[in-house]
Amino acid sequence: MLKQWVDSDYHPEGEEVVRARPDKVDIKRTVPFIILHVGCLLVIWAGFSWFAVFAAVALYVIRMFAITAFYHRYFSHRTFRTSRAGQFLFAVWGNTAMQRGALWWASVHRHHHQHSDEVPDVHSPKQFGFWWSHIGWITSQRNFPTDYSRIKDLAAFPELKFLNRHDQVVPIVYGIVLWAVGAALERWAPGLGTNGFQLFVWGFFISTVFLLHGTFCINSMAHVLGSRRFKTDDDSRNNFWLALITLGEGWHNNHHRYAFSARQGFMWWEIDMSYYALKVMSWTGLIWDLRPVPKAVYAEIGAAREETKA
Ligand SMILES: [Zn+2]
Ligand SMILES: [Zn+2]
Repeated sequence: MLKQWVDSDYHPEGEEVVRARPDKVDIKRTVPFIILHVGCLLVIWAGFSWFAVFAAVALYVIRMFAITAFYHRYFSHRTFRTSRAGQFLFAVWGNTAMQRGALWWASVHRHHHQHSDEVPDVHSPKQFGFWWSHIGWITSQRNFPTDYSRIKDLAAFPELKFLNRHDQVVPIVYGIVLWAVGAALERWAPGLGTNGFQLFVWGFFISTVFLLHGTFCINSMAHVLGSRRFKTDDDSRNNFWLALITLGEGWHNNHHRYAFSARQGFMWWEIDMSYYALKVMSWTGLIWDLRPVPKAVYAEIGAAREETKA
């Protein structure tokens, strides 16, 4: 059991066997996830400073961008291109969000698109209720293994496979860096009122728990609350508030209609912060070939409008 915490690909009984198990909450395997939540209580001892709060918010935004733009739009859907070094950087960056490795994330997500809101969809509120789709599914042993057959394009890179297998390395380094920065600030910028322990609690625990639940809201709420522009085969919705907290992922009905464009806010008024940032990154040459929303999809929107007018 302990070995699984340091090697996510360690399944002595075989991946197929694990994946065939019935769904249930597996407390032992979920301990790191529980620690992340309970760790927020350390704030009682770590205390408050405006700097620590600012850091927690900034780290939320920076890492939500990595989940949205890289784990989702790059690794899961390949909506733009980058270099090999670029994709490694994006995998490390996304890993700081503590949502496991990019390959596991993409394998689960590609499965979600293939079976959206059908019985095999591991996080469908329609099939399993709100709470299971929000948080329950991630505690189930059967959803732990990475299904490498779904991500052959990504598994061809040993460096990405390594990060996925040892998905604890980046979060540990992230925590150490936070503590070190906090300690350095205490010494050289005491006016900020922070220290190593405080910055660690706000940046590692609190910021990350908000980040997890922000992302989880797309699995749960974005299939329940909001409007449906497209009559997709699933229950996906467009929701402005979810788009705001996830930097663009709330336009989830758009996304289920067409998943292969770099933008999810299809119209100019659909705020999609991740897309704007990707656009700026494309000017630097770090990424390129951002895939657009096809004309046929815009034509569908136009046709639906004509229908309502008539
Ligand atoms: Zn979905
Ligand atoms: Zn997707």
